[in-house]
Amino acid sequence: MASTYPVHLVLVGPPGAGKGTQAAQLESQFGLKQISSGDLFRENLKNQTELGELARTYIDRGELVPDNVTIAMVEDRIQRPDCAKGVIFDGFPRTLEQASALDEMLALQDSEIQLAPALVVSDDVIIDRMTGRRVCRNCGAVYHMCYNPPKAEGVCDICGGELYQRSDDLPETVRNRLFVYYKQTSPLIGYYYAKGLLVRVNADQPIGAVSREMVAAVRTVIDK
Ligand code: ADP
Ligand code: AMP
Repeated sequence: MASTYPVHLVLVGPPGAGKGTQAAQLESQFGLKQISSGDLFRENLKNQTELGELARTYIDRGELVPDNVTIAMVEDRIQRPDCAKGVIFDGFPRTLEQASALDEMLALQDSEIQLAPALVVSDDVIIDRMTGRRVCRNCGAVYHMCYNPPKAEGVCDICGGELYQRSDDLPETVRNRLFVYYKQTSPLIGYYYAKGLLVRVNADQPIGAVSREMVAAVRTVIDK
């Protein structure tokens, strides 16, 4: 059954699965707002805020930033008017505690999660995607050296900004992030399955094929 706005989606999946890439496409197609907790932390790092300095110690080790800090940051962000039509949560929640906090904050707005697409992808693909990822320093657009290269090497197609490799995408940190995912985040699959919200998407495919599966899944809850 199709929902009326606001619509809230949670993208579940390991780091590097393609959540941000898919969220950006869904954002433009359905008019929802992509909220990436990782991007919010990186913005704070760039602006050298106290929150950014705290987050840095965890991000550099590939660990999760504590729940209370992360929940407060996201709760504050979704109050802004650009979230009124709904949100695609990307990289949040990452623990069961964050998931129930999210349910509570949406309930306060008389809203809820309508769908949790899970990007299912094999471990070797994840490593390859994370180590080849490049990000625009200016606008945050995401590229891949092989699978989604920019037109000119090292330069963002959208804003002309400089592309860089995230320090947590280096091979040592990538393995720990995957371990942290299996230990702390993968229980979310069961959490959303139990609520009848989980839909599995084969994320081992090229970007366009994953997008088609994603859009078909989202159309089951958005009449557009
Ligand atoms: P996440 O947000 O889940 O960490 P990203 O969207 O940043 O993942 O994608 C990780 C990397 O993999 C990026 O370099 C991106 O360009 C690339 N990528 C995303 N989806 C695919 C895909 N289906 N096939 C190949 N590369 C992909
Ligand atoms: P991402 O951009 O989603 O890959 O996140 C990069 C890093 O930011 C993660 O490895 C964590 O250190 C931190 N982070 C992002 N989102 C969360 C979250 N929901 N909970 C805790 N830490 C997070």
